[in-house]
Amino acid sequence: MKVIVLGAGVVGTSTAYFLAKAGMDVHVIDRQEGVARETSFANGGQIAANHAEPWAAPSVLPKALKWLGRTDAPLLYHLRLDPSLWAWTLKFLANCTPGRERRNTVRTLRIALYSRTILQRLRRETAIEYDHLARGILNIFHTPKSFSAGARAADVMSELGCERRTLDRGACLDLEPALRFSDAPFVGGTWSPHDESGDCFLFTQRIGEMAQKEGARFHFGTTVTRLLAKGNRVGGVETATGVETADAYVLSLGSYSRKIAQDMGLNLPIYPAKGYSVSIPIENDEGAPMVSITDDAHKLVLSRLGGIFRIAGTAEFAGYDTTIDPVRARQTLDAGLHLFPRAGSRDRGEYWTGLRPVTPDSVPLLGRSPIENLYLNTGHGTLGWTMAAGSGRVIADLIGGRRPEIDLTGLGIDRF
Ligand SMILES: Cc1cc2nc3c(=O)[nH]c(=O)nc-3n(C[C@H](O)[C@H](O)[C@H](O)COP(=O)(O)OP(=O)(O)OC[C@H]3O[C@@H](n4cnc5c(N)ncnc54)[C@H](O)[C@@H]3O)c2cc1C
Repeated sequence: MKVIVLGAGVVGTSTAYFLAKAGMDVHVIDRQEGVARETSFANGGQIAANHAEPWAAPSVLPKALKWLGRTDAPLLYHLRLDPSLWAWTLKFLANCTPGRERRNTVRTLRIALYSRTILQRLRRETAIEYDHLARGILNIFHTPKSFSAGARAADVMSELGCERRTLDRGACLDLEPALRFSDAPFVGGTWSPHDESGDCFLFTQRIGEMAQKEGARFHFGTTVTRLLAKGNRVGGVETATGVETADAYVLSLGSYSRKIAQDMGLNLPIYPAKGYSVSIPIENDEGAPMVSITDDAHKLVLSRLGGIFRIAGTAEFAGYDTTIDPVRARQTLDAGLHLFPRAGSRDRGEYWTGLRPVTPDSVPLLGRSPIENLYLNTGHGTLGWTMAAGSGRVIADLIGGRRPEIDLTGLGIDRF
């Protein structure tokens, strides 16, 4: 069976690997000159399966109001003349109830935990190396109020079967000694020991090479201009160089999936949420964290990825704009170096922005679509690296006629 995978980010490339491994004739089309050159390039590196809480929650509304109009806010919402943003926002608001928050957490958790298992299996069965660290994720809190809220969130996740321990400041310092150099007056943290971190770009390169060894072919520098309908099927993919056809198609174009799906009459509720990262070469080994950190106040994640200290996060609803705002980039750097001042030099930071493909309920769009031979593997939002391996395996199983190892109820487009 011939399958075309649209998009060579971490999601599309992982899918290509599992499809090729299952013996299919796999072709991957991407406009860039290699894998993972857009949102999968320089993200926060966390495999945060135990952090499956959606953005849409009752607690987000008071916070969002407080942040409105502040240029240093972790979440910036630009009111734009963009009907797709308004439609997305209405769906997002509808998901801000306690019941939906819990339901969406459970759904994301299902695919995120499965994905972590698949990653661990891959590490056991292949020689894949991507600067991974399996030391958990430590969320730190700067005020007693946010610490109590963090402890309550940890209890909820524990009820759902995730281990997240509450640690006082001293225990945080014991767990991550590099925090002792910090001036930040954090009061405590919660630690999920089973979470991991690793370099998403490196992983995508490696799994792309593995896919090629299994026979997958990558067509880089090829822009998809539209999908061609043939009845209720995709009849082909139009690119700048011609039309490519296959038996099945997988849509993994990240934030751009919505635009291309429109050709088939599909309205995917995905909106780009811009985030920043700064990568600094580690100059002082003792000064950089070994445990991946989440700074709740600044909505930042901080990871050691080989010799690099990566600070990533914040969110901005600014359409498809990826330009780097120097003020916002510096805020990211300052917040990271405030916590780990000895990790490296501020003037050696490399800045990047990426567009998270976010759905209103933070659950990806995974599985069959109403179009017979079109499969969706997109909309992974803040946790695309966390969910990519498992999502790829699920799609390969579906196309190959095998029953996926997890229940897909609530993960598909039919929920909208
Ligand atoms: C600042 C930041 C920090 C993050 N931190 C984390 C983290 O710590 N942990 C985590 O799990 N996730 C994190 N994420 C989220 C994660 O990076 C994304 O969810 C993930 O990279 C999405 O992967 P993707 O393959 O769906 O999309 P992409 O990586 O964007 O891949 C889509 C591909 O489609 C191609 N494409 C698009 N349009 C076309 C077209 N018309 N023709 C041909 N090709 C096209 C692009 O070139 C690209 O290669 C973070 C994101 C950001 C922005």
